Amino acid sequence: MKGYRWTCNACSVGNASNETHCSKCGCSATAGTEDIEKHKNPGGFKKRKTIEEYKKQLLPLLFSPFFLVIYMHNGKFEIALLLFVAVAFIITKNLKLLLYISTDKKAKTMLLTFSCTLLLFILTRIYLIPDNSSSVGWGVLFYFIFTFGFMYYFTKGKRFNKLLEQYYKKS
Ligand SMILES: [Zn+2]
Repeated sequence: MKGYRWTCNACSVGNASNETHCSKCGCSATAGTEDIEKHKNPGGFKKRKTIEEYKKQLLPLLFSPFFLVIYMHNGKFEIALLLFVAVAFIITKNLKLLLYISTDKKAKTMLLTFSCTLLLFILTRIYLIPDNSSSVGWGVLFYFIFTFGFMYYFTKGKRFNKLLEQYYKKS
């Protein structure tokens, strides 16, 4: 940057070449897209980050029954216990969020259905389908398609984004 004035990517103010950060908004001269967004629209950035964080808290809860069954079945009781404690911790920490989500019937049903389907899937696999059955491969395929489909909807879909946005505004 030596010898050149530079224009801040976030607020478009011109800055002297020896400045590493914008004199008006504090954005770095070499800021990446995320940093620029943070300085351009701090409120929007914080909202987006917080909603991402809500989702990160919710996802382990959805998968926990599935993994609990696997660990129990494999005799890894210490890991199962750890998982149980972790889930109890997440639930306590996010109780308000969970209660808010449960007021939206459709969202609640979708999350429960997803979690229960995974649980039923693994129970069927363990107790009803022998290891050498050809349906094992199909089961794995189903698992991946089902999980990725849901994850896509959960992260990109309007329903959950809107719901979590409302919660963010409220809290
Ligand atoms: Zn700036």
